[in-house]
Amino acid sequence: SVMVRRSVRRRRGWRRVVRVLEELEEGCATPVGRLRQVVDAMAVEMHAGLASEGGSKLKMLLTYVHNLPTGNEKGTYYALDLGGTNFRVLRVQLGGQRSAIIRHDLDRQPIPQNLMTSTSEELFDFIATSLKDFVEREESFSLTSQQERRELGFTFSYPVKQTSTSSGNLIKWTKGFSVEDMVGRDVSECLQQAISQKGLDMRVAVLINDTVGTLALGHYHDEDTVTAVIFGTGTNACYLERADAIIKCQGLITTSGSTVVNLEWGNFWSSHLPRTSYDIDLDADSPNPNDQGFEKMISGMYLGEIVRRVILQMMQESDVLRPFSSKLDVPFILRTQLMAAMHEDDSPNLSEVARILNDTFEIPDVPLNFRKLVVKICDVVTCRAARLAAAGIVGILKKIGRDGSGGIASGKTKGGSQNKMRRTVVAVEGGLYTNYRMFREYLNEAMGQILGEDVAPYVVIRVTEDGSGIGAALLAASHSASSSALDR
Ligand code: BGC
Ligand code: MG
Repeated sequence: SVMVRRSVRRRRGWRRVVRVLEELEEGCATPVGRLRQVVDAMAVEMHAGLASEGGSKLKMLLTYVHNLPTGNEKGTYYALDLGGTNFRVLRVQLGGQRSAIIRHDLDRQPIPQNLMTSTSEELFDFIATSLKDFVEREESFSLTSQQERRELGFTFSYPVKQTSTSSGNLIKWTKGFSVEDMVGRDVSECLQQAISQKGLDMRVAVLINDTVGTLALGHYHDEDTVTAVIFGTGTNACYLERADAIIKCQGLITTSGSTVVNLEWGNFWSSHLPRTSYDIDLDADSPNPNDQGFEKMISGMYLGEIVRRVILQMMQESDVLRPFSSKLDVPFILRTQLMAAMHEDDSPNLSEVARILNDTFEIPDVPLNFRKLVVKICDVVTCRAARLAAAGIVGILKKIGRDGSGGIASGKTKGGSQNKMRRTVVAVEGGLYTNYRMFREYLNEAMGQILGEDVAPYVVIRVTEDGSGIGAALLAASHSASSSALDR
C-alpha cells in the first residue's frame, strides 16, 4: 500500500506540474492581435517620448548623430566597446571605400565582476590600462608612426543623455552594472581623464550607444537601413527620425533633415504585454525593480532566469523530482546560452537537457518526461520574447510609415495607404539573435505575421557584424577633428 500511495502522489504531482506549464502558456500567449496592440503602443509611446521630456517610458534620446557614415571615411581609428558582459578594444583602418575595412581586434575580455559594482575610477582605470596596452602593442607592429592625435569611438551601451556627439551623462545603469558614483556624470569625461592619466594621446571623438554603432555600420553597407536593434544581454533600438518630428527639441536643424534617436526600448511598457507572476517576481528581486520591463521579457540576461523560476515553481508544487536541489534557488544560475542549448537539443532522449540540468542545478537523472517539459518551458519563454521583439520592430516601422499601413503621422487616406512601400532594412546584432536559432526563427515568423504577406517582403532583417565596434570607429572618423564640420 506504500507503493500505491506513492504512485497516487506521483500522478497528482504530474498533474500539478502540467498545470504550471499550461498556466505559463496561457500567460505568455502572443496571438497576432495582441502583437498588433503592442505595435500600436510602441508607436504611440515613441510619439509621446518625442513630444516632451519624460512624456513616456521611452526616453527617445537624442544622439546628435545627424549623418551616418558615407563610405568615404579614411584613416586609422580606435574603438572601445563597453557592453553588458564584454569589453573590447579595436583598431580599424578605413580605406575610403566601403569594402576596405581592416581591423585588429583585441580578444573580447569579460568585464571583471568586481568592477561592475565598484567605483568609476577603478572601472575607467582598468579600461584605460587595457586601452593603452592595446595601442602600444598594435602600434609596435605598424610601420608608420602615429602622426596625429589618435581618435576613439566609445560605445557605451547604457542610457546616456547626450550633450553632444562626444559627451553625455549616464542616466542609469542597466544589465547588472551598478557603479553608483557614475550616475549623472559625463561618461566621456571619465574616460578622457583616465586616458590622460595614463599618458595616452587619444581623444574621445564620439560617445555612442551600441544601437547607433550598429545603425552606422548597417547604413554603411546598405543605405536602406533606417533602424538598428540589439538583442544581447540587454535589448534596445535606434532609428533615423525627421529632425522636425522631435517636438521636445524644437529648432533642431540638421543638414540632412534627420537625426538618430535612441529609443531605450528596454524600458518600454504597455498593458498589452503578456506578463506572468514570474516576470513580476523577477522584477521585484532584480537590482532595478520597475525598470526595463520590456528588456526583462526579451533579453539574454533574463530568459534563462525566467525558465529557472518556472522549473523552481514546478519543483515546489510537486514531488515529481526528488531530492530537491538547492541550486534551483540561485538567481541567474541558468544562463540563456544553456537554455538555448537545451531548447535546441535534438537528441532522441534529450541527453543534453539532462546534462545541463545536472551541471547547472545538480539534479541527476532527470526523467525523460520532465526533460520534455523543460524544453517546452524554454520554447514558451523564447517564443514570447521573440514575438514581442518583432512587435517592437514593427512599432518603429509604423512610426516612420514603413509598416505598409500608412503610419500615424503620414496621413493614411480612407480606402488604403497611399504610401508606396519602400525597401526597409533593419540592422540587427547580438548573441541572442545570432546564436539562438529558435529566437531568430520565432522573430522572423512573427514579423511576417504582423506585416502580412504583401508588406513583409519589403522588410529585410540584416545581421551586421560588430557594429558596436566598427560602427564606433566609422563614426569617430566622420566626427574626427580632421573631418570638416560641413561634412557632418
Ligand atoms: C541599455 C541600452 C543598450 C541595450 C543593448 C540596454 O540595457 O539600456 O542602452 O543599447 O541594453 O546593449
Ligand atoms: Mg555589445
